[in-house]
Amino acid sequence: MYNSISSQNWLKVYEEIFRRYYSRANLILPNDFYVREIALQPLYSENYVRHLSFSTISELRKTITEKVPRHLYYSSAKYREPANTSMDEKQWMGSDLIFDIDANDIRECIVENGIVTFKFCRTCGYITYNNIKNCPKCSSELLKFEHVDSRCIYRALHYLAKLIDIIENDFDFNMLKASFSGNRGFHLIVELIPPLDKMDPEIRREIVSYIKLDESITTYIKARLLGHNHRKALPLPPKINEGGIRRRIAKELLDMPIDDVTKRYIVGQFGKPNFSDALKMYKVLEHYIGDVMKRISIPIDPKVTVDVTHLVRVPNSINGKTGWIAYNIKKLDISEFSMDHSLLSPEENIKFKIRIDVDLPKLEIADASFSFSRGEEIVLEYVYASYLVFKGVATLINVKS
Ligand SMILES: [Zn+2]
Repeated sequence: MYNSISSQNWLKVYEEIFRRYYSRANLILPNDFYVREIALQPLYSENYVRHLSFSTISELRKTITEKVPRHLYYSSAKYREPANTSMDEKQWMGSDLIFDIDANDIRECIVENGIVTFKFCRTCGYITYNNIKNCPKCSSELLKFEHVDSRCIYRALHYLAKLIDIIENDFDFNMLKASFSGNRGFHLIVELIPPLDKMDPEIRREIVSYIKLDESITTYIKARLLGHNHRKALPLPPKINEGGIRRRIAKELLDMPIDDVTKRYIVGQFGKPNFSDALKMYKVLEHYIGDVMKRISIPIDPKVTVDVTHLVRVPNSINGKTGWIAYNIKKLDISEFSMDHSLLSPEENIKFKIRIDVDLPKLEIADASFSFSRGEEIVLEYVYASYLVFKGVATLINVKS
């Protein structure tokens, strides 16, 4: 049975769903969350409520079931006085290390047209790929639509796995939490204990540089690997049991369609190569190194990692840009995550009737593909309908419960 809802009341529908979800949600918070600032954006407001602090999870739960948030965050920083409104008087005690991988920044996604961005007019349905402010037809203010296809999110997930490998093996950090952002990327939270949590932004920038390997660094590494600066012996591929960047290169080479001899050499099952084997392996290295360097460069957002006062989206909270759960990936097992609609939905078996407000190109949303025309009315599962409603390109008409 469908209940009719007015256009003003669509947020009320979500408020009830979010409230039911938050009354039982398994929010993933640090054990010392009482020294963290909690921040939220209420469902009905553009403004953030900051400088909250709670001593127990049930206090937090009480607040977010009363004032239901559109977005919910905690500070990567630990403060002596987390609720103090002055950043100086909060008294910083240290911060976790945070990584953000956004599918928007992934080279392959850009190349494969997996990213859709345009501006649109909700009033008349006008669409433009140009960056203009107002609708030329009806002069309403244009809104921005940003979407990434699910295959790009899987690419981001793949980079997350590589990032976890680096953090665990090269840095030996072991208090890690990985989660889907609920929109188009992934977060990795690395909880640090004193004195490591006191790392300043400069040190964090060095970590970013090691993980991201921008072009000037990769050019230098390539030249060194190929022996361009010392031509005495024939350079061989790095081995899997080496450390640091050489191990990352060895791992990536193994994923390339390389010959058996080189493979066995990289994994350490091949003795001292004779000249012809060495030459062959050098050629393999020379051929694949360009691709390998691109693949070992992890597209993390430097701003997030360097910022010691960053607000982290609470894993398993709801992302109000989509209505999806910012799914916490259990035990860092990336195979545990998928874009399955049931994984991202705060409640099972809810369907919405929505009206599409602009012509939409083919979009991969969660585990399905759609293309819609303006004016079309359709019944969709929560995950697809909410995505379009929260992104502003559809209107909620009815809810079926
Ligand atoms: Zn218009």
